[in-house]
Amino acid sequence: MKSYTQNMSKRPRYRWRTWLRGHVPWAMVNLFPKGLKDCGQHEWFRFDDETDRCYHCEVGERPHQHLPIDWDNDLWRELSRLADEGDEDYQQLIRKLKREEREADLQNAA
Ligand SMILES: [Zn+2]
Repeated sequence: MKSYTQNMSKRPRYRWRTWLRGHVPWAMVNLFPKGLKDCGQHEWFRFDDETDRCYHCEVGERPHQHLPIDWDNDLWRELSRLADEGDEDYQQLIRKLKREEREADLQNAA
């Protein structure tokens, strides 16, 4: 059985900073920058068309990898609803996401 402190040391780094960045006023965010070292277990967000970055550390960066869309997701439903109501930006976004989903499917099938 592992001691509590051993478990703590195995936890991925910088999670508390990420949490703080999400919860403190923006003016304070720079007091808690992302960690400089590898956090140990990257969690990705899409930074731009080609790049994913880690929420937690600065070294976490990789070529963008497609994540399958969860079509039942609340956010997706909301997006679809706004597009259905005629919002051009959301319609474009949805077309782009669906196109990428198709391309990823084709690559997986190849
Ligand atoms: Zn990381």
